Amino acid sequence: MNKMLDVSGIAVSPDHYINGARVASNETFELFRPIDQSSLGQISEGTAEHVEAAISAAERAFPAWSALSAAERKPYLDRFAEEIGKRADAFCVLESNDAGVLLSRMRHGVVPRAKLNISWFAEHALKLQDHPIDTEQAHHIVRHDPAGVVAIITPWNAPLMLSTWKLGPALAAGNTCILKPPEWAPLTCSLLADAADAAGLPPGVFNVVQGSGANTGAKLVSDPRLARISFTGSVPTAKWIAQAAGANLVPCSLELGGKSPFIVLEDADIDNAAATGALMYRNAGQVCLAGTRFLVHDKVAEKFVAAMRGHVEKLNVGDPRDEATEIGPVIHPRQVERVLGFIERAVVGGAELLWGGSKHPFGAQYIQPTMLTRLQQSDEIVQNEVFGPVLTLQTFGSDDEAIALANGTDYGLGGVCYGETTHATAVAERVRTGFIWINSFGIRDLAAPFGGIKRSGIGREGGNWSFEFFCDIKDIVVPKKPFRASFSQR
Ligand code: NAD
Repeated sequence: MNKMLDVSGIAVSPDHYINGARVASNETFELFRPIDQSSLGQISEGTAEHVEAAISAAERAFPAWSALSAAERKPYLDRFAEEIGKRADAFCVLESNDAGVLLSRMRHGVVPRAKLNISWFAEHALKLQDHPIDTEQAHHIVRHDPAGVVAIITPWNAPLMLSTWKLGPALAAGNTCILKPPEWAPLTCSLLADAADAAGLPPGVFNVVQGSGANTGAKLVSDPRLARISFTGSVPTAKWIAQAAGANLVPCSLELGGKSPFIVLEDADIDNAAATGALMYRNAGQVCLAGTRFLVHDKVAEKFVAAMRGHVEKLNVGDPRDEATEIGPVIHPRQVERVLGFIERAVVGGAELLWGGSKHPFGAQYIQPTMLTRLQQSDEIVQNEVFGPVLTLQTFGSDDEAIALANGTDYGLGGVCYGETTHATAVAERVRTGFIWINSFGIRDLAAPFGGIKRSGIGREGGNWSFEFFCDIKDIVVPKKPFRASFSQR
């Protein structure tokens, strides 16, 4: 075993968790804090041997785990959720240190949700009873059978939330799992293994293999023994994974990036819209479902810009470990350069900065909340996901124009629409995305479908949709009358 890391007083293993035990690598990579680039220590890098060991362990654990009923699996998962709750403070400290996520957001949003991601799906699995279909000819028993060994790959912007969002239904459905955490923020996934271990999950049911995407992740998703791959991350990685999975015909669920519209109609409550608008800088803009393209009616644009500027000026930029902070750092120096490059190219191309535009004095990995306008729909910054605190603003004169702008990118994850409710709903119906919030933002329910269209992904997660993906649907057909073989039968 490698030495435990001490992260602001929290001990966490840097190693893999395979077949119910910690396993170390000789090869390691260094992990840094986004807040000041200080080192958090060395993390084990998964080799072919570790991936092989994890898949074999998950394969061995599958027959017994999948043979349990949902009701028999539930106590394990309830204990898993409880063990996550017992470690709430540690999860908060770890993710605010390695991912730069706000401590307050972890405490009040992410950790309670991570617990719920496990317990809610365990409960929901009880309702996945066999669905009988009665026809004149036959009685059909439609079953949700566990699929097998599942690979789960998650990004750095919300590792705990997204890993549990996939693990909950995958395990509740009777699958065994291998989680490959993001290499820039792997610590909360490591602590999840401690919680699973303390909950008594049988060895091999849940495994964690740390490592980089290009090395460990690529080896994992190329394995033909996988039954499913559940991925959240960027479009280029998804294309790579889809090819690897395609070679083995392994079904994938792909939750990808966004360039979601934030529409402000002429009849919107402008101050409310502007207050919600400022929320788009949450997590330093590193949020897939944020509305990053503001589309504002000509007649209210000036008022909206003034109102939003007022809210943005009040945002408290600082250390994510400080409960009062509202905007923290960008995850990595490479991401800082990438985000600043987008701003620079937009300005050179003729865009106007309404606010922000450069590094924030708080620290090397801080970027000012930024808003750009005077843009063409074809501009790079309108078309591509920035994944930083950078928003764009365009204006429109009619609903048709707003909808054309909203639909004018290759992405289709989410959206926000502010306006009189009936009007906003009518506009939202014509916006091509997987979901859209009316006069609100971020309302999520575990029973509701989540996912994108176009380049924003394939598949839906949440409620029954998660189980549709993680299960093999089987129809057992029992004829109602005695069956006599005949070649003339239709
Ligand atoms: P990324 O695609 O670079 O990495 C995501 C994960 O994939 C990481 O764990 C990485 O190690 C792994 N990976 C990379 N290459 C791989 C390969 N060849 N084989 C297997 N695994 C590989 O994404 P990121 O930069 O970590 O995260 C940001 C992206 O995630 C953004 O595009 C964001 O919009 C998206 N995201 C989407 C959602 C959603 O629900 N739709 C949620 C959060 C983030």
